[in-house]
Amino acid sequence: MLDTPGMRELQLWDGDESVQLVFEDIETLAGNCFFSDCRHQDEPQCAVREALVAGTIDADRYESYGKLQRELKYLARRRDKLSEIMEKKKWKKLSRLATERAHLKRR
Ligand SMILES: [Zn+2]
Repeated sequence: MLDTPGMRELQLWDGDESVQLVFEDIETLAGNCFFSDCRHQDEPQCAVREALVAGTIDADRYESYGKLQRELKYLARRRDKLSEIMEKKKWKKLSRLATERAHLKRR
């Protein structure tokens, strides 16, 4: 078995679309927020908070949505880090190959 760090996380990340589907109503509401990067906390004219107050969104449901969002953000950071490392490794290998090739040409 190959050592594949972050594989489980990457697979989890692939589930992002289905998460968005499950919480489609909240996602749609979030699109109505005044600020496009609204965190739905203390921003003015927040459509999500308004819906929570009005009872359009179930508070428990919103909480699990928020939890999931935080988890996905954390995974996204991890994924970025992982691809950054892989990218670095790739370039290291490529530059080494280029050096080797240049070496061969000189001979
Ligand atoms: Zn909001």
